[in-house]
Order: sequence, then C-alpha cells, then structure tokens
Amino acid sequence: MKKELPSIISDIISKFSTETFPEKLEHKDRPDEILIDHLCDCCWVQCPFCAAICTNTIENHDGDHSVPFHRNNGLNGWFYRGTTNLSICICTSAVASDRSFYPNSSDDTVPWKEYRKGGPKYASWRITPDLSELPYWKWFVYRFQKDLENHYEKTYAGSGKIPDEWKKYSKEDAIDSLDRYI
Ligand SMILES: [Zn+2]
Ligand SMILES: [Zn+2]
Repeated sequence: MKKELPSIISDIISKFSTETFPEKLEHKDRPDEILIDHLCDCCWVQCPFCAAICTNTIENHDGDHSVPFHRNNGLNGWFYRGTTNLSICICTSAVASDRSFYPNSSDDTVPWKEYRKGGPKYASWRITPDLSELPYWKWFVYRFQKDLENHYEKTYAGSGKIPDEWKKYSKEDAIDSLDRYI
C-alpha cells in the first residue's frame, strides 16, 4: 500500500481541482473513493452520516459495515436542524458525544450514542467512538469551504463554524495524516 500511495495521491491531485469540484463531488472521482478504488474490492455501502464507503471486501464481509476513517457530515450535506449551517462533526466523535441527530424528516431525535436506533441503514454500521480526528478532512473542508457551501447552498457558520485550529493544516499535513494511517 505504501508503495502505491504516491501515485494515488498524484492521481487525486490531478483529478481534483476547484474548477471541477461540483461534478467531482457527485462522482466516483472523489479523493477517498479514488484511494479506496485503488486499494480494495470494497462493499461500497456508504455510511449514512458521512457517506464514507465501507472498506470490507465482499469476500471478508461479516457483520457490520465499517470504515477506518469517517468524514465530516457536512460533506454529505448534513446540517444543523433549523439552520442553514453545514455540520462539521465527524461520526466517530459524534457517537462519543451526548448530542442527538434527526434520522429522518420527522422531529424524532436519536442520541448519537444509540445511533443504531435511527433505522436499518444506521443499525448496519459499526461506528466506534474515537476522538482522534484525521487532519485530512479538516484541511479538506477548510480548503474547499466555498465549493461545499455553493454545492449545498448552505454555509459553515454558527454551530458549523470551521474552528481556527483547522486552518493550520497544510496539504502536506493532510496527506501525511493519511500516510501515517495507512
Ligand atoms: Zn461516517
Ligand atoms: Zn460493508
């Protein structure tokens, strides 16, 4: 995997630029998907919160869907109810919190700690509480903030305000964080 990574990263950088952002967000050319595409024969079911793709292979899939790193939910269009603010929370931190989410358009809330009660698509995922968040997605959201805002016609403001800490990551830090993980 390590050997393959530099070529994948350049593949990501060449395919992914702000000019093509809106289309790329919709298609299979998103960086994480390119990465996964190169590395495994995945199950492809997406996390109902962040849309990260289950990385279990078809052959080795037993039980729940899972993924090594989840993403900010705003990348998948989640926003704070009653606002137009995109969500900056990451599934793994959210399930460690005392907050709740709305699993559908009704007013029913489900505590994040019991996210599986949200319905079948939530129940089939194993999301382990983990407060260590990958710098990659922080850098990504900060870097492509305007594009994401335009895409979803919402803003990173209010509860979804991007923390100052996220601005300190360089692209190299972001890529390094993936590299360290792999
Ligand atoms: Zn997720
Ligand atoms: Zn799966």
